[in-house]
Amino acid sequence: MNIIKVMIKHLIYTNSNYLQINRICSLFRRNSYCVILAYHRVSPLNDRDYLLREMIVDPVSFEKQMLFLIKNYTVVSLNKFLGILECDRNQSNYAVITFDDAYLDSYEYAFPILKKYNLSATIFVPTDFIETGRHFWWDRLANILVSSNKQSLLLNWKDKRYNLKIGGNVFTIKAFKKLCYLFKFARNKEKEGLLNLVSKNLNVVETNSYPSNLTWRNIREMSQNNISFGAHTHTHSAVSSVSDSEFKEELLSPKETLENRLNQAITAFAYPYGEKSDFNIQSVNAIKQLGYKVALTMIQRPIISNDDLFVLPRIGIGGYDTEEIFRLKLSGSIPLF
Ligand SMILES: [Zn+2]
Repeated sequence: MNIIKVMIKHLIYTNSNYLQINRICSLFRRNSYCVILAYHRVSPLNDRDYLLREMIVDPVSFEKQMLFLIKNYTVVSLNKFLGILECDRNQSNYAVITFDDAYLDSYEYAFPILKKYNLSATIFVPTDFIETGRHFWWDRLANILVSSNKQSLLLNWKDKRYNLKIGGNVFTIKAFKKLCYLFKFARNKEKEGLLNLVSKNLNVVETNSYPSNLTWRNIREMSQNNISFGAHTHTHSAVSSVSDSEFKEELLSPKETLENRLNQAITAFAYPYGEKSDFNIQSVNAIKQLGYKVALTMIQRPIISNDDLFVLPRIGIGGYDTEEIFRLKLSGSIPLF
């Protein structure tokens, strides 16, 4: 059954333009769903970025996507959208724009476009990465892999032995995906050890040339220009793997830090990684108790009327999304598969 699903998905992705699926789908529904879009980075692509292309939308595509939203949806802030849902859950045609991880390029490339069209957006900030010189493990890992001349990576990790082929985009992408899985479920201290192990095995000395994050100055400037901010834990940890002793630091400290820096209430939260395995009932309850009013996931679909405000779905937009795929994703057709 899975193989059939994969084949159908592949057929849609590769032939969406030819098949005009979006147009066919639109015949079956009068209105568009409400959607919350999730971006990570907006930046011109360079050759070394191929491992993280799913996270990076080039500015030209981003502007086209904004124009599509303006034409087909009412774009509102997350806060306004919550007010609209409070009055009536059966809404359609509203779109909310969000960014996770607070990369500097959201200020450099996305912010001028959002300002140009007077669009609001919400940026979710993992506060441990603002003006601390720290970088995300996936940026460091990708940089190590693309900097190596080796053809394979031998790794002993937690009683398991990994022998991953690298070199050439296809093998390196496969190895990166495998390693991402190990990293995602490692604790913060383990991640540092794992990065050291990978860089040592691949003879790579880390150079510190990674994409930067927003500064507090950027955040303040954006907050005065239609951009709101939300919490994304402190260290970008999957909430389901946070221990009881870390709960306060991860869930409450980013809220308090942002509130102190911006002098305004912070009531929105986005789960890091955001898939179903990355949060659980305890974390949802804790987020409610800490005073958040909404929590966003990366469960990929439009909003439906009985969605829980603490488990709201979003639609992730990335560098592989052509105009047709973008429209398909928003129409809710892709998540069917
Ligand atoms: Zn994130």
